[in-house]
Amino acid sequence: MYCKHIHTLLHYKVNVKNKKTLKTMTNPEPNIPSNFIRNIIVEDLRINKNGGRVHTRFPPEPNGYLHIGHAKAICLDFGFAKEFDGLCNLRFDDTNPAKEDIEYAEAIQEDIRWLGFDWGDRLHYASDYFDKLYEFAVKLIKKGKAYICDLTAIEIRETRGTLKEPGKESPYRSRSIEENLDLFERMRNGEFADGARVLRAKIDMESGNLNMRDPVMYRILRATHHRTGDNWCIYPMYDFTHGQSDSIEGITHSICTLEFEDHRPLYDWYLDELEVHHPQQIEFAPLNLNYTVLSKRKLRELVEEGYVNSWDDPRMPTLSGLRRRGYTPEAIRNFCERIGVAKRDSIVDVALLEHCLREDLNKRAPRYMAVLRPLKVVIDNYPEDLVEEMDAVNNPEDPSAGMRKVPFSRVLYIERDDFKEDPPKKFYRLAPGREVRLRYAYFIKCVSVVKDEQTGEVIELHCTYDPASRGGNSPDGRKVKATLHWVSAAHSIEAEVRLYDRLFNRENPLDIEEGKDFKYYLNPESLETLITCKIEPNLAGVSAGYSCQFERLGYFSVDSDSTNSKLVFNRVVTLRDAWVRAQKSTETKGKSLRQTKFRVQP
Ligand code: ATP
Ligand code: MG
Repeated sequence: MYCKHIHTLLHYKVNVKNKKTLKTMTNPEPNIPSNFIRNIIVEDLRINKNGGRVHTRFPPEPNGYLHIGHAKAICLDFGFAKEFDGLCNLRFDDTNPAKEDIEYAEAIQEDIRWLGFDWGDRLHYASDYFDKLYEFAVKLIKKGKAYICDLTAIEIRETRGTLKEPGKESPYRSRSIEENLDLFERMRNGEFADGARVLRAKIDMESGNLNMRDPVMYRILRATHHRTGDNWCIYPMYDFTHGQSDSIEGITHSICTLEFEDHRPLYDWYLDELEVHHPQQIEFAPLNLNYTVLSKRKLRELVEEGYVNSWDDPRMPTLSGLRRRGYTPEAIRNFCERIGVAKRDSIVDVALLEHCLREDLNKRAPRYMAVLRPLKVVIDNYPEDLVEEMDAVNNPEDPSAGMRKVPFSRVLYIERDDFKEDPPKKFYRLAPGREVRLRYAYFIKCVSVVKDEQTGEVIELHCTYDPASRGGNSPDGRKVKATLHWVSAAHSIEAEVRLYDRLFNRENPLDIEEGKDFKYYLNPESLETLITCKIEPNLAGVSAGYSCQFERLGYFSVDSDSTNSKLVFNRVVTLRDAWVRAQKSTETKGKSLRQTKFRVQP
């Protein structure tokens, strides 16, 4: 586990280091490091395979929402098409009516568009090919390459053999072509019960590859399909659909994840026997992220069993969850580019994803002041009804973002954590008798505290300000060790802020100890809701999806739960960059990578 983690970091570095050499080898476009898939495409173009066409597809099953792993596949499929002036289709591999839903198909399209990709008029469904696939099946039966088998599902499994033992041939394997054709047609016509018979390919029960041991091609299933309704009571298996759908669409490069490597000989066999256009399948290692699970089935479990609120819960690694949390498509695309693509499995540090987001938001997110856990401050020597407009910089990274005015008055809020009655040694912020700077405003000094009589909790601070320090500038060169953010009590807006921590507190939640389940590793503190936050009045009227930085606290975005009367913010990510820190510590410590703690701040 630990090694893999290091591998990812090193792998990333190696990639960057080799950027130049790889680029000069094959890559037509400057600035993009090459990879083995690009090399294959470049070579195919060189020898004019497929008449110089590049045509890819992204083929999701509409049985859940897309996650960040799918983003990697989408960026590859659509990315290569774009890079080589080709086309990329969106095709739903909808062969399993029991688990699929129109809701998923719609959400998937929304997510891909949001990521910035477009399939034009090439939206396809494998179910559109059901007639064609039926014809293909008949063709194989006629060639003596497929047969109707009456064994039950359990019997088929039991006679399949193992990696060490060959399978047993079905007693129905030698049925005549005529009988097979007749039975297949009657299967289609609904003459037999669900599960009574299947159509199997006649390949090799002794093959070392279990997928080649007479795999099932069609099953009887009386289920209403979300597109074809009750037209069919037999459905093709995924393995008999996927490769042929690629072929029908004229796909040239069928890019998919590593788990399909063992299926490739079967797809090749079908296409060769059918004598149709033969796309080249290329497998790559799927994205794995630490502290995250990437599997639609497992994510669905979290939603359906109420561990999270919805598919787009901002803690979810789904694209809709990331979007709602405040991730930008640019950050996700940049992340996908930086992780690169390889044949070998590895685990990527989720801190890299967060780093890519910070990089993007740092450039564009306007800064504001907000107080999450307010502590009241009264400036005793500030006039009662005076309100001053302080000049604040909108984005120090982007001078074109300009300035804004922030109201300052006698009663303010500061962050509760920024005051300590008995400050420990390295605490430089506000304490009795101590002076600090209020950002863009004044130097203030704490003169007394008011406590709750019952609990002893500090509930109010009394301070004095130095009028000569307007704008936060030192009047006489005297130094203060801290600058705090603040809001004016009378002018601030109340908001709810949701802070997030990792959804799982185990680095690999699928590395499961005996007797436990992946959900055992859910982090019970993944969500903290603060309902009495006070934000700068300049934020009035912002709507869902708006992102900004709250100074010193992180990047935040307006959640879709916001209403006209109450703003709700998600913390997208903190300011502290665990990725950069991990990089630095690998540099200074050689291979002894120190694990970074991922706690929310402050
Ligand atoms: P899951 O295991 O999450 O259900 P899946 O493979 O069943 O995913 P599909 O809808 O079949 O989901 O995936 C569509 C495409 O996305 C496939 O080409 C698949 O290889 C790719 N894909 C799925 N998961 C990942 C991942 N973690 N990294 C990269 N590509 C992925
Ligand atoms: Mg799949």
